[in-house]
Amino acid sequence: MKVAVNDDAKPKLTVVKILKCKNSDCKAWVREEFATPGQVCPLCKGPMLRTMKHLSPLQKKYKAPSK
Ligand SMILES: [Zn+2]
Repeated sequence: MKVAVNDDAKPKLTVVKILKCKNSDCKAWVREEFATPGQVCPLCKGPMLRTMKHLSPLQKKYKAPSK
């Protein structure tokens, strides 16, 4: 069975599990799949927080529905 993909639907955001640096001044994050147990921030060596990130697969402009 194939699942039809409707390209006209609103752009899907891919939810990616990440580890984000707890330091709010630090923008570092790594994908959880690339993280190691006890992963520390690659930039500031601080603790990291497991969270999610929404990534849009397409960065091109699209027609946003007017509010
Ligand atoms: Zn950091």
